[in-house]
Amino acid sequence: MNILNSKFDTPYHTAPFSKIKNEDYMPAFLKAIEKARAEIDAITLSNEAPTFENTIEALDFSGEELDRLSSIFFNLNSAETNDEIQKIAQEVSPLLSEFGNDITLNEDLFKRVKSVYDQKSDLDLTTEQRTLLDKKYKSFSRNGANLSEEKKTRLREIDKTLSKLKLQFGENILAETNTYEMHLTNENDLAGLPEGAKEAAQQLAESKDKTGWLITLDYPSYIPFMTYADNRELRKELAIAAGAKAFKGDELDNQDNVLQIAKLRYERANLLGYKTHAHFVLEERMAKTPETVERFLNELLEKAKPAAVKEFANLEQFAKDLDGIDRLEKWDGSYYSEKLKQKLFSLDDEQLKPYFKLENVIDGVFTIAERLFDLKFEEIDTIDKYHEDVLTYKVTDTKGNLVSIFYADFFPRPGKRNGAWMTVYKPQYIKNGVNDRPHISNVCNFTKPTKSKPSLLTFNEVTTLFHEFGHGLHGMLANTTYPSLSGTSVFWDFVELPSQILENWCYEKEALELFATHYETGEVIPMELIKKIKASATFHEGMQTLRQISFGLLDMSWHGQDPTSITNVKAHELEAFANTKLYPDVKENCMSTSFSHIFQGGYSSGYYSYKWAEVLDADAFEYFLEEGVFNKDVAEKFKDYVLSQGGTDDPMTLYKRFRGQEPRPDALLKRAGLIAK
Ligand SMILES: [Zn+2]
Repeated sequence: MNILNSKFDTPYHTAPFSKIKNEDYMPAFLKAIEKARAEIDAITLSNEAPTFENTIEALDFSGEELDRLSSIFFNLNSAETNDEIQKIAQEVSPLLSEFGNDITLNEDLFKRVKSVYDQKSDLDLTTEQRTLLDKKYKSFSRNGANLSEEKKTRLREIDKTLSKLKLQFGENILAETNTYEMHLTNENDLAGLPEGAKEAAQQLAESKDKTGWLITLDYPSYIPFMTYADNRELRKELAIAAGAKAFKGDELDNQDNVLQIAKLRYERANLLGYKTHAHFVLEERMAKTPETVERFLNELLEKAKPAAVKEFANLEQFAKDLDGIDRLEKWDGSYYSEKLKQKLFSLDDEQLKPYFKLENVIDGVFTIAERLFDLKFEEIDTIDKYHEDVLTYKVTDTKGNLVSIFYADFFPRPGKRNGAWMTVYKPQYIKNGVNDRPHISNVCNFTKPTKSKPSLLTFNEVTTLFHEFGHGLHGMLANTTYPSLSGTSVFWDFVELPSQILENWCYEKEALELFATHYETGEVIPMELIKKIKASATFHEGMQTLRQISFGLLDMSWHGQDPTSITNVKAHELEAFANTKLYPDVKENCMSTSFSHIFQGGYSSGYYSYKWAEVLDADAFEYFLEEGVFNKDVAEKFKDYVLSQGGTDDPMTLYKRFRGQEPRPDALLKRAGLIAK
């Protein structure tokens, strides 16, 4: 018997990592897909009339073995992979997407789902059940299940063309990025660059059998040059090259792709009965409508603009005093900002790191979770790990009931991808009256301890740990019936609230005193340092905010209205940027032709959500600030109305239950120093 297809006979039914062999995966996937198909068939072939239980609920609980297996496999493919695993991933991914499509396009299944959906006002459903029904129905209708055959055919055509155009869009940018290089042979031209960046530029030149130094449009090369290089002419050359990507009228130009993508998305939305692409996308977001997003961005713009204009004027003056620059251009922004920042706050990582020993930070975040949410973390060694570096915990409530299993995997190694993330090995759900608790994991890439020094985190790493732990709490405290609504399965402009709010405790004296002590002397971090961290974190926040808003407005200008009459990409863009512009326009440059987030990735009509999430977390944390950062009542509300609820209800409803009112941008603007406290 393949261990991956059997019930896990392990403590808490945790994954038996040490017993899984790579050759188990493929047969296990085939078997699990077969089982999941049989579960779907059992629904569609039933002789009983469709009911919520025999159709919607049965559908949500179907494929459990496949989900469990996919979680284990793909989590390991991110955290502990090798060539063999990657090869299996290549083989299994198409099988999984085929299985997914077979469900979405299953007409018999849709008929039953629709039949329940059409009776929904007569059914006595809980809020969670209504949400589930809605979600299941829309997973079909938003893919065209209600359309006539003719329209369905057109929809498939559009989808095919769109995926080709998006691919082409990305390939053009990649080709543009890869073909450009700035070859420097005079060391003076690199003046200002940190040693590391210079070395990297030299190595790059060497690797291409060139003398001197190479600068490219790849971020690790581009960003340091724009931030530190003293040579203004070269910064200008590089900035213009970056801004002109896929906008040169040659075969790599993306203008036509942009126009076509916008128009096809619009047509697709119309076909499905939505006014615009943004209406289609935002239906499944907390913001709900393009009107709300535009109002949100414009309100923020109105409040942030005065600060941004002032910061810009100061920066221009600074550049003038320092180097006699008369007019600040786009290629001057990062350079003089960095110089000004250095002048105002001399703050470096090495100063802070001794106060953030990893073990202390972990204890700190656990203590904070205990004080806020009554959680107890106990390290256990009775469950399997996929690598010896992984820490395993049993999380319980005050009565000793199991809340969650928690894995923490903090150090880099070959086979782990970059970055930090939270993930789930098993979601929480309630089945046959039993509340089955989740298995949650945090994966990061922090500095490893050495023989002589423990792992000391940069402040950025500390906030990352808190951030991922916040997502972790969302998973651990889940308390819903249906697995697809559990934990972090929420609209994506809501999912960053639990993670971002937790970062706020990293700046609070009461919280820092719990864990930010010097690893050698035991001294608590001086408040002066914290003040500096806070001030530098919001440095040039006005200009940063304006920049984010400008991207959000550009996104909405392409997707929130009828784009069929747009013919000139650059002219359209200038109009969208009219209210957010600080720097003079560069005529050779265009943003849209390389705006991968919205034309290639999944952020179309979603760019606003970066700021939206910040508004949410600042507004929610303000409630704690009003009542006390460890106030039990506020914490309990946050647990009961947000963390435990997953996607069971409309996020705005959940939020208002917690906060007593809709989120307002004032707290964010205050935190950012853009309006008075
Ligand atoms: Zn996050």
